[in-house]
This record gives sequence, C-alpha cells and structure tokens, in this order.
Amino acid sequence: MHATPPKPSDWLKAKKGLYCEPGSFHIDPTGSVDRAVITHGHGDHARPNHRHVLATKETLAIMRARFGEEAGGHLQTAAYGERIRIGEVDVTLVPAGHVLGSAQIVLDYRGSRIVVSGDYKRRPDATCAPFAPQKCDVFITEATFGLPVFRHPPDAHEIGRLLHSLRLFPERCHVVGVYALGKCQRFLTMLRRRGYGEPVYLHGALIALCDLYREQGVDLGPVLPCAGVAREALKGRIVLAPPGATNDRWARKLPDVVVGMASGWMRVRQRAKARGVELPLVISDHADWDELTATLRDVGAPEIWVTHGREEALILQAQRMGLRARALSLVGFEEED
Ligand SMILES: [Zn+2]
Ligand SMILES: [Zn+2]
Repeated sequence: MHATPPKPSDWLKAKKGLYCEPGSFHIDPTGSVDRAVITHGHGDHARPNHRHVLATKETLAIMRARFGEEAGGHLQTAAYGERIRIGEVDVTLVPAGHVLGSAQIVLDYRGSRIVVSGDYKRRPDATCAPFAPQKCDVFITEATFGLPVFRHPPDAHEIGRLLHSLRLFPERCHVVGVYALGKCQRFLTMLRRRGYGEPVYLHGALIALCDLYREQGVDLGPVLPCAGVAREALKGRIVLAPPGATNDRWARKLPDVVVGMASGWMRVRQRAKARGVELPLVISDHADWDELTATLRDVGAPEIWVTHGREEALILQAQRMGLRARALSLVGFEEED
C-alpha cells in the first residue's frame, strides 16, 4: 500500500531562504545555518559561515575565493546528477545554465519531487553547463524578467553592436559594465566566438574571478589588467569594469570613453539613461519571458511557485497554461543581473 505523497508546502518552507524540514537543511539561506545547499555563487544566494555546505565544486571554489576561511565549516562537493541523501530527502544538483557551477536543486521525498531552479537561463553559455529540465511535481522558478516586455535579443546581435561601434569609433575606448561573476566571463567568450582576438582590458575588481574561471577550464582569450596601461594604449580597446565603475573617477582616466553596459535591464531605456549608458547591450544571465514560459512547459509540473522578481504576470501565465501557481515570498534576494 502506498501512502499519499506529502503536500509540498508541508515539507519545503520559506524560512530564512528555503527550509526543507525532513532533511533539516536550507537552500540559499539568507543567514548562516547549520546545513546549507547552495545553488550558485552570487552574493544573495551564497553567504558565508554555514557549518556545512553542499554545492558543486565550482560554486565551492567561488565561495572560497569570496569568503576565504568563512566559506563554511565543512564543504561537500556534489557532482551534477549525483544523488545525495540528507535526512529523509534525496538531493540532486543539475545544471541551471546561469553561471559557472550553477545548479538546480532536485528534492525527492516520499514519492514527491520539488525542483528549486535558483537563477537560470536557457541560452547557450560557453562558461557553464546548459539548463537541464527535470520533470517534477512542483517547480520553483525565478521571475527576474517575468514580464512579456522582457524579450532579450539574440546575444550575437548585441555583441555585434559593440564591435560595430568599435569600427565606427576606432579612437574611442569602449568601457562595458559587467557583473564580476558570470557576465564578465561570458561576455569575453562571446567576443571570442564573434572572432574578436584582441586583448580585453580588465578593471582590477574583475581579475580574481576571471582567474578562477580559467583555473576551472574556461578559455577567456587574452585579457590584461587595465591598471598601469598608458592612456594612449587604451584607445580603440574594450575595457570591462563592474557596473558601478563605468561612470566614476576611474573611468575618467580612460581616453574618450563610450560607456556600455551588458544587462537584461538595458531593455528598459530609462535605466540605461539613468546610468549614463550610451551603448546598452541586452545580455542577461536570467531567462527572459519566452524562456520562462517555455521552461514551465518543459518541466511539466502541475504546480509552480514563483519567486525572485515579477511574480504576478508569470503566475497569471502559468494559470492560463492550466497550472496551479502561487507567489513564494523569499526575502533577502536582490535584483541581480
Ligand atoms: Zn544569480
Ligand atoms: Zn538571484
């Protein structure tokens, strides 16, 4: 005789991130906990000082690079697809396609399966393994770009716009704002794929994670630190910098700058304008509207929990697709990308 499967909301709860009761562990906890399972290395998901951390080896490497000794007491590596028992729950990490090492957390408990996707995207990314859809009973999705207006153009098109600008303004230094973890390295691989073989110059804040990606086997092509390079030598070059640096004093030392920014938010004109961005490049590590809705279809879950962004429209869309859907209020997550 089979017992009826437990109700998902009875065993996975929004508490300091997500708390899985029968396993006594948190997923992406918002403060330090006894036992944490981490989806990926971004700061609002991976935090320091847990007693025990389970994550992919790449995510653990990122946490070590960021937190040093405070990365966690005991760090346990999970390979993609490896089933690991914690308490009464089987935990499996599978690729999320978001940044290096990013994982969806698949939870199996008494015949019921919940997938916590973390942040994800569906587009090709040479720096990480592609999102692998898992059939499940409940799929927890992010909704960073959960509005129909967010449709990211093809990545190659956006990179093409940068290269075109470089050809038109060969004397100007093109500074592009990119997030240090993920976007920076993916941007470099996209330039290389489009045949750009010149050295790319890096703001100091981007160097450590680029080194880490390289150590993990990701080829970024020739990159050089920007520091100490003569102003003249940066004419007609591409410089990558954290988004906050593209308009500060640091950028004023560069020759005749074109300010670019690579982010899904560049779809919103006012945001680009407010940041003084002349060359907005719509390149995101999060699923756009079409990717979100396609993913709901691919995972075949009758029930969707929506978090991390614009919940409302995606909930409505899921309901129109005949699915049960509700908002899952998780506090402590930032509007990253
Ligand atoms: Zn993220
Ligand atoms: Zn996030």
